[in-house]
Amino acid sequence: MKATETLIIGGGVIGLSIAYELLKRGQPVHVLEQNRSGEGATRAAAGMLATDHELIPDLHQLAAASRQLYPHLVRELFNETGIDSGYKENPFRMKTADRDVTFASVGQLDPVQLTRSLRQAIVTRGGQIEEQTTVTGLLQSQATVSGVETTRGKRQARHVVIASGRGSEALLATSGVCIRTVPVKGECLAVRLPGHVLTETLFSDDVYLVPKFDGRIIIGATERPGDETTTVSVGGIAQLLQSAIRLFPAIEEAEIVQIWSGIRPQTADGLPYIGPVSGIERLFVATGHHRHGILLAPVTAALIADYVTGSVSTVESGAVALTESRRNKHGAHH
Ligand SMILES: Cc1cc2nc3c(=O)[nH]c(=O)nc-3n(C[C@H](O)[C@H](O)[C@H](O)COP(=O)(O)OP(=O)(O)OC[C@H]3O[C@@H](n4cnc5c(N)ncnc54)[C@H](O)[C@@H]3O)c2cc1C
Repeated sequence: MKATETLIIGGGVIGLSIAYELLKRGQPVHVLEQNRSGEGATRAAAGMLATDHELIPDLHQLAAASRQLYPHLVRELFNETGIDSGYKENPFRMKTADRDVTFASVGQLDPVQLTRSLRQAIVTRGGQIEEQTTVTGLLQSQATVSGVETTRGKRQARHVVIASGRGSEALLATSGVCIRTVPVKGECLAVRLPGHVLTETLFSDDVYLVPKFDGRIIIGATERPGDETTTVSVGGIAQLLQSAIRLFPAIEEAEIVQIWSGIRPQTADGLPYIGPVSGIERLFVATGHHRHGILLAPVTAALIADYVTGSVSTVESGAVALTESRRNKHGAHH
């Protein structure tokens, strides 16, 4: 079998963004996804490109670099596919116990539309997305990865990128590589409120309301560490609705249109794993983005593409230094 240049394991926002970035750099890619791409944590996201107040300081530089990449990325995807990712910048009011501040303009988008456009752009550019195919292990020759074993046979490749969200830990463990992520379940709902226009995102200690480009308002999200079930609890939704009504009383009149949950992959120190896996040549990992995978997807893609192609990084040097030092401290290792 002919080896693909790069195999990407996982068709979430992280895997698809990496695939698209590599294609733009002329690298053939093949994405392997166990279910349908975009249906994991990515589908559950509210799509906020968070303010720095919600981020740990070590993530500020990466987040800033990623926010800067978004306007161009969504324009480019729209030009290539005609699919609108719902990107917009609107006021963001943070009303917590210790502050009430409005940021004039904070970005957000629709993660489902974003993954639709990424999928289509990847296929148009000649990339392959193979769904319903689970990767069960890595193929190695000496200490270099040479492909993967899947439920549909072997796939050879020159580089392998593990972007499998919560599944990354188990997959790396099959080759004796240790990373740690904790599942943090989040529940959300979407409502419509005819006759009312909410023009700003409202964010408090226990709930947020995000007005989307299609008229829905997303109300999110619970945090249930250690819970990996996909059900939605009455208690979780009741708690969100009570907090939402306190924050924005008019929401009481709204019609519920959708309820869902997703699993965020969290790491112990709150930083994602982005970079080469030490001890196995040509193997890379990009996971552990917890509550900020949509925000951090473009910068993650740029960093991984830099590593795979051996390029001098196009990302702010501070951001690269962060991932380097992190890898040395707690990174993926044998
Ligand atoms: C309720 C909620 C709200 C959120 N809101 C926001 C937000 O507003 N802003 C923001 O930036 N982030 C938000 N997030 C976080 C964001 O959704 C995640 O960080 C992001 O989606 C992670 O993307 P991913 O590609 O790593 O994971 P996923 O989307 O889970 O993709 C991983 C993919 O890998 C596949 N896979 C796993 N194992 C294998 C295997 N062995 N073989 C083949 N395929 C495999 C899975 O099927 C899955 O499709 C939210 C998350 C939740 C749950």
